[in-house]
Amino acid sequence: MKPGRTILASTISKPYTEEIEKKVEQLRPIRPQGPLLVGFLANEDPAAKMYATWTQRTCESLGIRYELRELEDRDFLEEAILQANRDDSIDGIMIYFPVFNNAQDQYLQQCVSKEKDVEGLNHVYYQNLYHNVRFLDDEQKLKSILPCTPLAVVKILEYLQVYNRLLPDGNHLYGKKCVVVNRSEIVGRPLAALLANDGATVYSVDINNIQKFTRGEGLKFTRHHVEDLGDYSEELLKKCCQEADVIITGVPNETYKFPTEYVKEGATCINFSSFKNFDDSVKERASLYVPMTGKVTISMLLRNMLRLVENREALK
Ligand code: NAD
Repeated sequence: MKPGRTILASTISKPYTEEIEKKVEQLRPIRPQGPLLVGFLANEDPAAKMYATWTQRTCESLGIRYELRELEDRDFLEEAILQANRDDSIDGIMIYFPVFNNAQDQYLQQCVSKEKDVEGLNHVYYQNLYHNVRFLDDEQKLKSILPCTPLAVVKILEYLQVYNRLLPDGNHLYGKKCVVVNRSEIVGRPLAALLANDGATVYSVDINNIQKFTRGEGLKFTRHHVEDLGDYSEELLKKCCQEADVIITGVPNETYKFPTEYVKEGATCINFSSFKNFDDSVKERASLYVPMTGKVTISMLLRNMLRLVENREALK
């Protein structure tokens, strides 16, 4: 018998989908037909199309309207986004990336109005995350939005009780050591910052080097600081993993497997990559193992959308 448990994203997302359904009902007086999410698809990528179909299905099962707008010519995407920003009947906008697969994609991302940015990719939201700012206004009535994949990982860690609610607010990860294998601007870097802002010591690993994100000794800083530990090497990774309570992977590579022997016995392992970054042998060492996170991410995306609707209504 295996000593630990595998926990599926569908189990973790359930309370959130129930919360979304309830909120959609509460919003009936102002959104009688349900809030409207528009997805823009301007590439031929079958994975993006599949993600769009899946988003649609989830939305519709929860009472949210979803409209996929497919563009044959990606050069018209910017104008289509700006038009959707102006359209009051649209509550949320998302783009299926890659579109140009270069820096222009980051520009397109910033074209989405922050009031409709369900993925939480607007610069303002990232800056709030990095600076540990939780609200959009001085009165602290409008909660900031978080990028949905890093937020999903946080919610997973809460579910797994890695977050300790007995600790003061904002310090729930005090004493925890985490390794995050991915430092992309979309997921890995904001995730490492979020965990460190909540009190963890985070080893952020990418293909080039390893960095340490912390709020300093005794959590003396209000937000995380970053220290370079050195170039990437197997030895350095192994050392960082020795005491790691949590290992999170997001390597976009089919052949990559995180070395099971680096996992401390009883550690928690989470993979957000679309590829299986852990070998099945991880189940022999991990106490809790979450092999995929997509279902929680989509719940966070829809949760973000309802928060945006509430924020917009509060401003009226
Ligand atoms: P990316 O290519 O922008 O970044 C990959 C990161 O992994 C980089 O920091 C890179 O240095 C690092 N990396 C690659 N190979 C490595 C190795 N051998 N050792 C250490 N680090 C290595 O990709 P991304 O946009 O962050 O997406 C990563 C994966 O996550 C993809 O599979 C993507 O489909 C998936 N993803 C999942 C969700 C979700 O909700 N589950 C959301 C977004 C992305």
